[in-house]
Amino acid sequence: MTSLSSFKSSAVSHDIQAGKLSHSVLLLSPDTFALDEFAKNMIMALMCEQDDKPCGVCEACRKVQHNNNVDVLYYPKENKVLNSAEIENLIDEVYSAPYESDRKVFVIKNANQIDQTQQNKLLKTLEEPPSKTYFILIATEDSNILQTIKSRCRIVRVPQLTESEILSVLKDNNVPDNIATLAFSYCDGSCSQALKYATNEHFAEIVALTENILSNFRKSWQMLDFASKLYSYNENFEEVLDVFLNICARAVAILCGSGKVDKIATEVAQSFSVDALVALNRGCLNLIEQRKRNCNFNSIVDEFLFMILEVRHKYPV
Ligand SMILES: [Zn+2]
Repeated sequence: MTSLSSFKSSAVSHDIQAGKLSHSVLLLSPDTFALDEFAKNMIMALMCEQDDKPCGVCEACRKVQHNNNVDVLYYPKENKVLNSAEIENLIDEVYSAPYESDRKVFVIKNANQIDQTQQNKLLKTLEEPPSKTYFILIATEDSNILQTIKSRCRIVRVPQLTESEILSVLKDNNVPDNIATLAFSYCDGSCSQALKYATNEHFAEIVALTENILSNFRKSWQMLDFASKLYSYNENFEEVLDVFLNICARAVAILCGSGKVDKIATEVAQSFSVDALVALNRGCLNLIEQRKRNCNFNSIVDEFLFMILEVRHKYPV
């Protein structure tokens, strides 16, 4: 368990230790890896038979680690999102006794994707659960979750993993050290993002090309050359934009005096104004939307490159 230390220092961990955890908890983080790790530590702590919870070695903890603790029920079981039939199954389970221990834990994933009718059904169960019944709702963000559900939950924003924790996850996934360092520098503290980058065989090329564009693309006659390079990244254009936005954000931080100084971001901070970087950010978000609507890829690339020349001209340093 990579994030055990951050779990043990959390308020939730102290409350479980003291036996005063509320019945329903909503765990939130855009980083699905950190979210799952935190949830697993929390479930182990709830089920652990030892004093220092979670011990990680008692039978109950080990069963949680191997997803075969019969008193921990994960939903949805089959689909991506909890549906009506599964909620009925969940409610039946809530009102039946635990099998091996004296408690039951219900883990509900993708809680923000459950439709509102189903959320209302769930609400009734969350309101008055039998004693020693715990609900752990898991979501990447809370905007679609009913206020009535949120008000019955203890809301926990899962802490980010540390740099050394993320690097050790990458190592466990057989990522070479140089790629791990590169993926970490672009992941914004998100372990799932670092994993996604590090396991993309084109990631190092994507970073090199994006840095090249930001450093050297200044004149319209270069457009054709950069466009022809980008046209081959149809599958990975989202990563190109992510890396691009990441460098721009780091450059803005440097210009505002708050950023960690690194080579490419410093270079960008010297050759673009804050207004230009803000315009690039807005433009890229617009391109991401166009991608979602399946607009013609080559014209998105052309628009991307044209935008870079335009902001240099419109908002000079
Ligand atoms: Zn244990």
